[in-house]
Amino acid sequence: MIKIVIATHNNHKSVELLRLMAGLSITWITLKDLRIDMIIEETGTTIHENAILKAEGYARLTRMYTLADDSSLTVNALNGRPGVHSSRYGGPNMSSKQQRELILNELHGVSWSKRQAQFRCTLVLASPDSADLKIASGICQGLITISDRGTGGFGYDPIFYVPHQSCTMAEMNSDTKDRSGHRGKATFRMKSQIANLISDKQYTETK
Ligand code: IMP
Repeated sequence: MIKIVIATHNNHKSVELLRLMAGLSITWITLKDLRIDMIIEETGTTIHENAILKAEGYARLTRMYTLADDSSLTVNALNGRPGVHSSRYGGPNMSSKQQRELILNELHGVSWSKRQAQFRCTLVLASPDSADLKIASGICQGLITISDRGTGGFGYDPIFYVPHQSCTMAEMNSDTKDRSGHRGKATFRMKSQIANLISDKQYTETK
């Protein structure tokens, strides 16, 4: 069975990714399982570049297939901020709650009709030698709330309202977040590429 490393130190992300990838004949390994605490700096100018940096970096380190996720929140009224800086928004030591408060303060007085935002996710699967990259992305459209709503999810979920579900990402159950969320959409596209990789491998092994 092919082994794939989930290259994230964010426990919430690995829980979501493992749940979303269920059903594939893959042995999933986390960085925690491998006792890797090295952090690859996200020096790219887009989440696409950062996801590639992480997938290639950890693939080189582990010599295994490696799946990396980079995500962002972009807010129209803030000219796309926090964007690629979503994880460090407001400074390196800000908690998720402080980051949400910062965005809510920046949007103080902005009307409901001008609070559009997007969650984006790019997934990159790198081969053990990093020669082959498979890439999949997903976007979820929403609105930034006036205050935190809900206790589920993580990060910016409590301030991200999804109109067609009539609730924030933190108020949804995990099934609904998986179906309508940015990571769920990216995973759906990545899963078919991983399924092809599995059948190619099986074909080569039986030749
Ligand atoms: P990164 O992809 O690890 O750089 O994380 C980007 C930032 O977006 C972090 O602050 C995360 O907490 C946040 N984030 C990533 N994915 C999600 C999500 O699904 N919901 C809410 N916040 C998220």
